[in-house]
Amino acid sequence: SNSTDFLLALENVTVSFDGFKAVNGLNLYIDKGELRVIIGPNGAGKTTVLDLICGRTKVSDGSIKFKDQEITGLKEYEIVRRGIGRKFQNPSIYEDLTVFENLELSMPHGRNVAGALFWKRSEEVTERVREIAEMIFLSDLLDRRAETLSHGQKQWLEIGMLLMQDPELLMLDEPVAGMSVSERVKTAELLNEIIKHRSVIVIEHDMKFVESIAHRVTVLHQGKILAEGDMDTIQHDPKVKEVYLGH
Ligand code: ADP
Repeated sequence: SNSTDFLLALENVTVSFDGFKAVNGLNLYIDKGELRVIIGPNGAGKTTVLDLICGRTKVSDGSIKFKDQEITGLKEYEIVRRGIGRKFQNPSIYEDLTVFENLELSMPHGRNVAGALFWKRSEEVTERVREIAEMIFLSDLLDRRAETLSHGQKQWLEIGMLLMQDPELLMLDEPVAGMSVSERVKTAELLNEIIKHRSVIVIEHDMKFVESIAHRVTVLHQGKILAEGDMDTIQHDPKVKEVYLGH
C-alpha cells in the first residue's frame, strides 16, 4: 500500500553500530489513532527503533516519514516540533515543583510577530493543565510536590507533560514497569483515552498488560519484524514461540 495512508512510515530502515545491524531493513507503518505495542527479546532493537524515530540515533539507510513528510536526519527538537513525543523509562520530572508547575512548564511557548518568545496566557495554560491532570488521575494532587508522588503517579505525570505539548504520536518505553496492579489498569485506561486523538507506540515486556491494551503487536527479533498482528495471532505464531522459548 501507499505510505501516504500512514501517520508514520519507516521504510527499509537500517542502523549499523560498527557494522552490527541493530535494525535491519525495517518496514513499520503506524496508522492514525493506533496503539501499537512492540515486543521482542532483549537486544531485538526495540529501543533503537524509538531512538531512530525521535532522531536520537541517525538512520544508516532507509527513510522515516511522518504525516507524509521526510523526518529522516532531522534534529531531536525538530522532530518534537513536528508532533512526536518520547517518554523514557526514568521520569524526567522536577521533583521539587508541584504537579501543576510540572505540567505548566511543559506547555510550549509561542513567538510573537517580532519573533520574541512569550508564555501563553495563564487562563489558557490553567485550563489545559486541569484537563491533562484529570486524564492522568492527578486532579486532586495539583498542589503536591512531585517528589511525594508514587512511582506510578510520576510516570503518569511525565506522560501528562508530554501531552501538554499536544503530540500526534507518543512513544513510551515500558510505561508500567514498577507499577502496582491497579496502576497498570489505570494506565491501560489512560492509553485508551489518549488514542482517541493521537497514536501511541509502546515497548512492553509485561504480556498481561500487552493483552489488556494491544490493538496490534509487532514482534522484533534481530532488528527485523518476526511477526505482526493481533495478540491471538502472535501468541500462536510458531516463530514467536521459538524465539521466546529459546531464551
Ligand atoms: P532492545 O531495546 O530490544 O533490548 P536495543 O535497541 O537496546 O534492544 O539494542 C539492539 C542491539 O543494538 C543490542 O545488541 C545493543 O547492544 C545494540 N546497540 C544499541 N545501541 C547501541 C549503540 N549506541 N552502540 C552500539 N550498539 C548498540
